[in-house]
This record gives sequence, structure tokens and C-alpha cells, in this order.
Amino acid sequence: MTDLIRLHPQEFVGLLNRQGIRRAYLVSDPSGTRMLPSHPALQPLAEFVQGDQRDFAHHEGIFLQVSSEHETLQGAFVHRTARGAAAGGVRYWSYDTVEDYLRDGLRLSQGMTHKNALAGLWWGGGKGVMAHNPNVRKDAPEVRATLYRDYGRFMSSLRGCYVTAEDVGTHVTDMAHVFARTRFTTCIPTELGGSGNPSVPTARGVIAGMQAALEFAGLGDLRGKRVAVQGMGNVGGPVIRFLFEAGVAKVIAADVDAATVDRVVQQCRGMNLEARVVERSDISILGEECDIVSPCATGATLNPRTIPAIRARIVCGAANNQLEDPKRDDRALFDKSILYVPDFLTNRMGIVNCADEQFGTVTHDPLIERHLSRDWEHSIHATCMRVFAESRDMRQPPGQVALRMAEALSMEPHPLTGHRGRQIIASLVADRWQDSDL
Ligand code: NAD
Repeated sequence: MTDLIRLHPQEFVGLLNRQGIRRAYLVSDPSGTRMLPSHPALQPLAEFVQGDQRDFAHHEGIFLQVSSEHETLQGAFVHRTARGAAAGGVRYWSYDTVEDYLRDGLRLSQGMTHKNALAGLWWGGGKGVMAHNPNVRKDAPEVRATLYRDYGRFMSSLRGCYVTAEDVGTHVTDMAHVFARTRFTTCIPTELGGSGNPSVPTARGVIAGMQAALEFAGLGDLRGKRVAVQGMGNVGGPVIRFLFEAGVAKVIAADVDAATVDRVVQQCRGMNLEARVVERSDISILGEECDIVSPCATGATLNPRTIPAIRARIVCGAANNQLEDPKRDDRALFDKSILYVPDFLTNRMGIVNCADEQFGTVTHDPLIERHLSRDWEHSIHATCMRVFAESRDMRQPPGQVALRMAEALSMEPHPLTGHRGRQIIASLVADRWQDSDL
């Protein structure tokens, strides 16, 4: 078993090729505790996944294919589909081992279940993962076109139990190739009727989380506050602009990329912005004297090395998986009386922006705006207030409280279609999906 999971993804692809396998799955048995493989050769993978305590959470299915031309491992991880099809973007990334690849898919798909459910979206949770083949020129447009068209065919073959979207390593142009081969995708370019760049709505969601946290902490609103922002990119840049619009006294910001810093400084001329270019390892921005720290760069920034340095009362940012260890670091912030706004609560607007694009678009779309309102029951503000109150009353860190709420919501069956994803997966198994043509 250990041998199979320690393989490099390309060695695994070679092994599948030698066995004549182009598509394969692991799907859960009805009890949700055992994973059944499509081929006996994958039994060791099934045992690894079902025995894993860290990232396996009764996932409904894992589907794999080897792309037609570029020998690239493409996957769809379906965590839970009670609320609707498993939704989440497709990540295109380099992995050292099959274990790393599986863990990323298992963890990220579960995260999407929680993000989608807490947002009140009628979607389940899933994630696509493509393992970069080092022998492939991944920046070549013709390579990407083939890879993502193959991914689109893969989506069609899965009959809608998973609906894909953009994610790290995948660009909006790639989504056009996916869309050319399937209806089961969101985040397509605006010229094809899609929702376009989600970064500005994501920034608005982060501001809504900050406002809720300030109000709950009895600190009023953003006017006159000092905010430190780590990462000034697609989300961090607009966060800074919205902060000034809301009347903050000062923003201190850092980014590793000098051109990005320059661009945002130009955009904020005349505002009280103190921005600096930093080394990747420089975490001084998190320890600034300020009211709010906003991690908008990469994950795992909240950990035993950084938390002791934080002087802000509130942490609220866009980055995914900010807590290096979800339990330990959530607790450490709570014990330090720092109000942490769970990332998957406040950074939901990326998926919200594209989640309902099949229903058409409306200017100032109510399906989107309600997430930024104060009163809709699933809005960022209302959810934050519920999470913070329960956290205070139960003396539990807010990340744990938000997870519990998300888990309960994710079990609610879709009002029209019920738990259809499971039915689709059962059909795929009955119809021998693994033998279908690529
Ligand atoms: P981005 O790549 O445009 O911006 C990230 C910025 O952080 C870059 O400018 C980069 O140079 C900088 N950076 C990287 N490491 C740094 C470090 N150690 N210190 C300081 N700066 C550093 O990405 P983005 O789209 O703005 O997303 C930011 C984060 O928010 C990511 O974690 C992303 O997964 C998450 N997120 C984004 C969206 C969205 O709509 N774009 C939605 C949900 C979550």
C-alpha cells in the first residue's frame, strides 16, 4: 500500500498505463466508511484513503483519469452532495507523491463542502486536482487547450456529480476550453456568458467580515481604524481600496512583488497607505500595531511562529486555509482574545460569484448582494454574528463553531433534487464508467 501512495504521480500514471487503465474510481459503500475501487490494482489506494484519519471524511467518490495526450493525472474529488452537485475549482499543481495529490483533493473538497454550505448555496463540496507532469510545457497554449478540453470531457463523463470552476493554477482562458466540452462548469469567461473575475466580490466579502467582527467586538466600524494587509494582489488590492472608501485612518501593506506594490500605491495616491516589498519569509506585517490584520496572500500564515506576534484585535482576510493547524491555531488565537473570522466564511464570494451563473446575471445581482447584506440569514454578517456569539457562549474558537454549523447545513438535502449526487455516482458504477471512452 505504502508503495503506491509514495509514487510520483507520473510513476502512478505509468503504472495505470501498463495495466491499460485510463479511468478509475474509488467510491464509498453505502455506509460511507469503505472505499470501493474500480480495479483490484487500486485496492491499496482505497485502503489508504478509508484508513486516513486526517483528510478522509466519508467522501462519496474520487474519480481519476489520465489525459489523452499529455499523460497528466486529472481528478475529481466529490466530498458530499446532499445540498447539490459537488462544486469547487480545479487546481493545477505540482505534487511529489500520490499521497500529496490525494490529500490535497480530500482536504480541499471537504473545505468546499463547508464553504458552500455555510454560504447557504445549494451546492455540495468538491474539488478538481490536476498533477502537473514535469515533462509537459504547462505554459504552452496548445498544451493547456488539450489538457482542459480533456478535463471538460471528464466532467461530462461524470454526468454532473461534480461541477468545476477556476482555482490556483487554472486561468479563465482555461475555463473556456473546459466549457467547450461540458456544461458542468462555472467560472467561464464573461464573453461566453460567465461571471468573470471574482476577486472584487471576494474583497467585498472580506470587508463585510471585518465590519461584523468590529461590531461584535464593540469597536464600532472601520472609520478611523488601522489595518495591516498581507498580500496586495487580486483580492488584497481591492481590499485596500475598499478600506479607504470605508474611512480607515491608515493601511499598512506588504507584498513580495515590487510591481504589485507599485500598482496599488499608484491606485491609492493621496491615501494614508504605507506599503513595502518584503521577502517571502518576512512576517513582520502580521505583527503591526493595528486593529485588524488581513492575510490576503497564502495559506498557513497563522501558526505558532506568527500568532504570538499579532497585536491586532481582529484577524480577517481572504487567504484560504490561514490556520496552519485548524484546531491548534484557532484555539491559540481564541486564547489570546483575538477575534478570528474563519477564512471559509469571509472569502466565500469567489464561489458565490460564479455559483449561480446558470441563472443569468442581474446588475447588482440580489443572489450575490444578499451575501453582503446584514439581514439575510446566510449573509456573511449574520453568519459571523451567530458564529461569534456561539463561540463566546460555548467558549469554543470560532473556526470550530463555524465548522460545526457548516457540517449541519451540508447534510440538508437539496429541496428539489435531494441527494442526487449519490444517485449519479451509483449510475456511474452500474454503467462501468471506468470503461467509457475518453
Ligand atoms: P494573488 O496571487 O493575486 O495575490 C496574492 C499576493 O500575495 C500576490 O501579490 C503575491 O505576490 C503576494 N504574496 C505571496 N506571498 C507573500 C508573502 N509571504 N508576503 C506578502 N505577500 C505575499 O491571489 P488573490 O487572488 O489575491 O488571492 C489571495 C488569497 O485569497 C489566496 O490565498 C487565494 O486562494 C484566496 N482567495 C482568493 C479568491 C479570489 O476571488 N481571488 C477567493 C477566495 C480565496
